Amino acid sequence: MPGVFIKTYGCQMNERDSEAVAAQLVAKGYTLAPSEAVADVILLNTCSVRDFAEQKALNKMVNVIAETRRSRPDTVLGFMGCMAQSRGRELIDRLPDVDLVLGTQKFHRAADYLDEILAGCAEKIVDVAAEPGSEATIREHLLNGNSQKAVTAFVSIMQGCNQYCTFCIVPYARGEERSRTIPDIVAECRQLVAQGVKEITLLGQIVTSYGKRGGDASSPNSPLHPQRRGVAATSNGKSPFVQLLDAVHEIEGLERIRFTSPHPKGYGDDLIEAYARLPKLVESAHLPVQSGSDRVLKLMHRGYTRARYLGIIGKLRRARPEIGISTDIIVGFPGETEDDFEQTLSLAREVEFDQAYIFKYSPRRDTPAAEMPGQVPQKIREERNQRLLEVINEIAGRRYGALVGRQTQILVEGPSKKNPARMTGRTRCNKIVVFDPAGRDHRGRLMDVKIIRAGSFTLYGDPAIVNL
Ligand code: SAM
Repeated sequence: MPGVFIKTYGCQMNERDSEAVAAQLVAKGYTLAPSEAVADVILLNTCSVRDFAEQKALNKMVNVIAETRRSRPDTVLGFMGCMAQSRGRELIDRLPDVDLVLGTQKFHRAADYLDEILAGCAEKIVDVAAEPGSEATIREHLLNGNSQKAVTAFVSIMQGCNQYCTFCIVPYARGEERSRTIPDIVAECRQLVAQGVKEITLLGQIVTSYGKRGGDASSPNSPLHPQRRGVAATSNGKSPFVQLLDAVHEIEGLERIRFTSPHPKGYGDDLIEAYARLPKLVESAHLPVQSGSDRVLKLMHRGYTRARYLGIIGKLRRARPEIGISTDIIVGFPGETEDDFEQTLSLAREVEFDQAYIFKYSPRRDTPAAEMPGQVPQKIREERNQRLLEVINEIAGRRYGALVGRQTQILVEGPSKKNPARMTGRTRCNKIVVFDPAGRDHRGRLMDVKIIRAGSFTLYGDPAIVNL
């Protein structure tokens, strides 16, 4: 059977989409090729969030074409995901060797389309149409993809975004928000737990909007429709997302729950209260802030202020003092002045993030910010990126260092990528811990380790003090 190689760019959602496509292809009899050099089908799952990510995938495809068309001209080549969605047929016009362009609501059609192309029934296929119900098609997992038992899994709870931040291409690349139902998501989580998964991360572009939209409640496609049981607009003051957390929390055998990403605008007290109430919901929160300046937040159309963001962080820390907090920040947004940027630096110092993903603003076509006055020169974007990075690294160094000497629980995920003789686990507050397993396979175990050293965004545990 044909061997498929999928290369993924971008976020965890893209990783999850690739995994689901791979699992669907395996179920149809395809095999997973260990590298693109021996693959019959090469798919690039793309990211559009920044121009850099698009250029990387385009350059990769140019190289793949040069390589395969010489030695293996029958290799099927395809783009899928966000850039496929936003550029569509233009990709084949530009790179005529590409056979397939598959949009973000069409991942589940990959096998059918590849069958058609491989059988010679179709030469080129471009499908970027919207498809009602596609949010529920990312459900298959490749738990034994590495012939190792999976301990953690991502579960997609919704697709799309209705926030329309002025910098962001996601609403155009992923469409309107559509949520799966609670019973459907819980069934997937239960199955994962039955297969040995201990930790589940619920995924969505804006999980705090889960179940809030999806059209009119009278429409059968809406998660609020009475026949699609399981999501109430609010129940005992709980938003649909918190109702989902409650339902997933009930699953016996599941040890840990994470989610990403929430949005400060929809971050209600019911969610803070869930942290205080649900022990499986770990002490970790990724909460994108984007800027520390109210003026920039308004230009970004984020819908919250610096004070509101700091208020959420304060409440989270009161609910769970040990909580690890990470964020996304954009530097050099159009119109960002030195004063605005310094407010971002001061916010980073005030919150003391454990980790922050810093993005230099990248103009995206058809987004309002790309046309805004005051585009910040590349040199200044780079300089601000560097200055913020220094502050983030300094704070993280201190926060990681403060854990040295402490005992902490980790879930052991598997061998370390850098050194397979060692194993890695993750603390509840989302910090990676590397330790020497002393010849034993601890994968899937929750265990206490004593932290003996802190590196850059990594902790080291002493095997002698590991509780066996
Ligand atoms: N949905 C999440 C939210 O907005 O809260 C984040 C999704 S996005 C895939 C991940 C991050 O990419 C964003 O939080 C933002 O910091 C960054 N990003 C999005 N558009 C960008 C752009 N045009 N330039 C630079 N960074 C961008």
